[in-house]
Amino acid sequence: MKPVTKNDRLSVYVEDLTHDGAGVAKVEGYPLFIKDALPGETVTVHVLKTLKSYGFAKLISIEEKSVDRIDAPCPVFEICGGCQLQHLSYAGQLKYKEKVVRDAMARLGKLPDVPVHPVKGMDNPWRYRNKSQIPFGMDDGRVVAGFYQPRSHRIADTDICLIQTPEADTLMASLKRNLQDMGIEPYEEKTHRGMLRHVVLRKGRVTGELMVVLVTKKQKFPQAERAVEAIRAALPDVTSIMQNVNGDKTNVIFGNDTINLWGKDIIEDRIGDVRFEISARSFYQVNPEQTEVLYGQALDYAGLTGSETVIDAYCGIGTISLFLAQRAKFVMGVEIVPQAIEDAKRNADLNGFTNTLFEAGPAEEVIPRWYKDGKEADVLVVDPPRKGCDEALLQTMLEQKPQRIVYVSCNPATLARDLRILEDGGYRTQEVQPVDMFPQTTHVECVAWLTR
Ligand code: SAH
Repeated sequence: MKPVTKNDRLSVYVEDLTHDGAGVAKVEGYPLFIKDALPGETVTVHVLKTLKSYGFAKLISIEEKSVDRIDAPCPVFEICGGCQLQHLSYAGQLKYKEKVVRDAMARLGKLPDVPVHPVKGMDNPWRYRNKSQIPFGMDDGRVVAGFYQPRSHRIADTDICLIQTPEADTLMASLKRNLQDMGIEPYEEKTHRGMLRHVVLRKGRVTGELMVVLVTKKQKFPQAERAVEAIRAALPDVTSIMQNVNGDKTNVIFGNDTINLWGKDIIEDRIGDVRFEISARSFYQVNPEQTEVLYGQALDYAGLTGSETVIDAYCGIGTISLFLAQRAKFVMGVEIVPQAIEDAKRNADLNGFTNTLFEAGPAEEVIPRWYKDGKEADVLVVDPPRKGCDEALLQTMLEQKPQRIVYVSCNPATLARDLRILEDGGYRTQEVQPVDMFPQTTHVECVAWLTR
């Protein structure tokens, strides 16, 4: 029997926080998940839903507050799906993320003793995103823009977003005010009507260069000139204004065609000493300050002396590859998206690297072929998507036995799972260093270092 039923109101003690930021209280061993509740708090909750082995409850009031609780500074924190942890002090967030990583190592990796270092956080954990993707829409005859609500495509309308650049606020507010005057209709997802779908802003952290991309439903965009004027008036430092056309019924932001409306086609940025050209659709890390910390750690763990050959699997536009190329004899990068490989090659040229090779394709197919062709690596770096490394790639690692593996991961659960496989195949996890790339959210990035 479940100890609670739907619509029960009760007082509970919150003992833990899940990996997605909900408080956990146990009623006679039965876990209740409570959004916005923090560990150490005694709270009154209203039970929303009970399943066989756990349930969900809504926070009604807080009787005993956590010492780590703060007032969320964002006015739409309660309804916006962008941030989950603004009610937790930054020191509390870093402790929480360290625990998420430790728990994953112990439970999913059966690695309770692996050294997990304290999370490397930011001095100022706000305004860190260099890319904003702002959906526009209509609500009750009013233009709205902001970020989506949790698990929905309803827009939480706002004029400020504290994790994005001040320029994003300026642009968002100004376009919202002027859109109807310019005769530009925001796109409506439900009916597939209207013109302006998203406004994307990218900023080079080091260079300050600014790109605005207007994602429109149609290529024919008679108000383009007026929009350019309005954007230049709002953001006098803008260096590039582009239009991207997406006519599909989809929640993917960009379509295939990108047109220059004004200024340059690209912006430039630097991570450490490496320069990058970023176009409208290029993948580029969204927190460049912490990316430098993350890649610096990866470089450290790679232990390069100048004589090593390195493989960078899942290399994207070659950000890690080029970072490593500064200290390695040769770096080979592989990535499944051909356009990203084009960017990687261009960026290698831009920086004058002659010790790199990039190939488009699935890592699990390209890397075994490289080995077969005699292209061997002393160090293997992987940075897979959330689902972790492909099994075939893990198998190749175990067969080819590179001296060192550096595993960069955005998901502690799949990292722990893959470390277990590598441990069983003869590797030892020396250290795990978490890095906070996304303050105020539940995401945590890690670098793990393995040796044979
Ligand atoms: N290392 C890069 C990007 C990491 S994101 C950086 O730091 O910027 C993970 C990348 O893996 C994405 O670019 C994705 O396109 C790519 N990817 C996904 N599946 C892949 C596969 N099977 N083989 C190679 N690359 C893959």
